[in-house]
Amino acid sequence: MRYVIAGNSYAAVGAVESIRARDPHGEIVIISDEPYRAYSRPLITYWIAGEVRKDQLDYRPAAWYERNRIQTRLGHRVTQVDPPNRQVVLEDGEAVAYDRLLICTGGTPIVPPIEGADAEGVFTMTRFDDARAFKAWCEQEHVEAGAIVGGGLIGLSVFKAMKGVKIKLTLVELLDRVLGLALDHDSSAMIEAALRRAGVDVRTASGAEAILKDERGRVRAVRLKGGEEVPCQTVVMAVGVRPNTGLLKESGIQINRGVVVNERMETSVPGVYAAGDVAEAYDVVNEQHQVIAILPLAYEQGRVAGANMAGGGRVYPGGIALNSLPIFDLPLMTMGITLTDGHPNPSTGSGRVLDVLVHSGDGVYRKLVFQGDRLVGAILVGNVAHGGVLTWLIRSKLPVTHDRQALLTGDPLEIEIARQLNAVEKSGPWVRRTAAGPAVRERDV
Ligand SMILES: Cc1cc2nc3c(=O)[nH]c(=O)nc-3n(C[C@H](O)[C@H](O)[C@H](O)COP(=O)(O)OP(=O)(O)OC[C@H]3O[C@@H](n4cnc5c(N)ncnc54)[C@H](O)[C@@H]3O)c2cc1C
Repeated sequence: MRYVIAGNSYAAVGAVESIRARDPHGEIVIISDEPYRAYSRPLITYWIAGEVRKDQLDYRPAAWYERNRIQTRLGHRVTQVDPPNRQVVLEDGEAVAYDRLLICTGGTPIVPPIEGADAEGVFTMTRFDDARAFKAWCEQEHVEAGAIVGGGLIGLSVFKAMKGVKIKLTLVELLDRVLGLALDHDSSAMIEAALRRAGVDVRTASGAEAILKDERGRVRAVRLKGGEEVPCQTVVMAVGVRPNTGLLKESGIQINRGVVVNERMETSVPGVYAAGDVAEAYDVVNEQHQVIAILPLAYEQGRVAGANMAGGGRVYPGGIALNSLPIFDLPLMTMGITLTDGHPNPSTGSGRVLDVLVHSGDGVYRKLVFQGDRLVGAILVGNVAHGGVLTWLIRSKLPVTHDRQALLTGDPLEIEIARQLNAVEKSGPWVRRTAAGPAVRERDV
């Protein structure tokens, strides 16, 4: 059996570890256009900050590739997937045959088509090479001021780099608040205040209209909507990522925004699987398939895909959106459904009625979102205690029968009850009931 994996990151690692557990002898080929072993993508900004060394970025060491007898083709891009001939084609025209194929090519950063986006000194920030180029530019050009366009997860990650490059940063966000796709107004205001405390100039409701160049084609300023010019010598574009599906264009594999997969992580073409940021997998709280671009789910989906590629019958239980990152001195976690329009009992317009509980004060904001007797989302700022338990409650879909107020404030007794429930649940096979069919076992079958 020959397993070919396009992409060499979290989903690929999960797949290999699953394949090898079932098939010690099959051939595994990993092809990636990045010339590196799998590395921890979220740490690239810590590397800029000087908080981790390059060798500490390794997600799996060289020995892991040897132990799993992986043939690597690093620095090679897959340009075409050809299911009728069971092969992928690389940039240089070479064809690589497969019996089972996994597409885990992640996402590619979106660069908005604004004037001047091709200026020297404009970067995206999703790869190690981006981090290296950004750091080199800041040092070489003695950059004193930079702008980040986009106040989402990746944009805010860039602030970690500040310590290393020591530049004054301006954050430009089109929405009326930072992390606007995950945070409500109150929690976002706390994050914004933390950014300002750290010296960041935050400009919300204010898109970048153009990047202005000097006479040598280098960034000299960002022009905001309304005409104001913010002087800077570098710009990081962080407005989002889109699934890397270009290689599938002629393949006949069904694509929505991401690659469409079933509960076994198999695409519409038998024998071809997809996992991670490129795939539209099941979202437990929204009860639909969609891309949730976070690394634990990429790894988990890879594991499910790998098991099935090697002949297993494993079902992906579904995931939830989850962000966990400190913004300077302020810890932050969001999970599941978090935007509820600010009404006490808001109807989301999708026929769903949500109950919202908020605890705030003394630099803490905790919001729990319930649908009926189930927890479906949470925002934790300033105090993220027991975030793991809340995540588990959302994912498990168990009814929350205990005192919600205590759960909201993180009362230790209630959390202990939740932990014990967790232990009981883990001792037996989990089931997820779907609207469309019978109970589906979440464990390997
Ligand atoms: C700065 C930053 C901070 C982040 N912070 C967090 C965080 O705190 N928590 C969290 O959960 N998630 C975080 N993420 C998201 C997380 O990194 C991703 O969800 C995760 O990397 C997805 O893994 P993946 O295996 O799907 O693909 P990716 O990690 O995107 O890797 C895909 C690989 O495929 C390669 N590839 C693409 N196209 C081709 C092709 N045609 N041929 C060959 N190879 C190809 C790419 O070059 C890449 O190496 C962060 C991301 C970034 C960029």
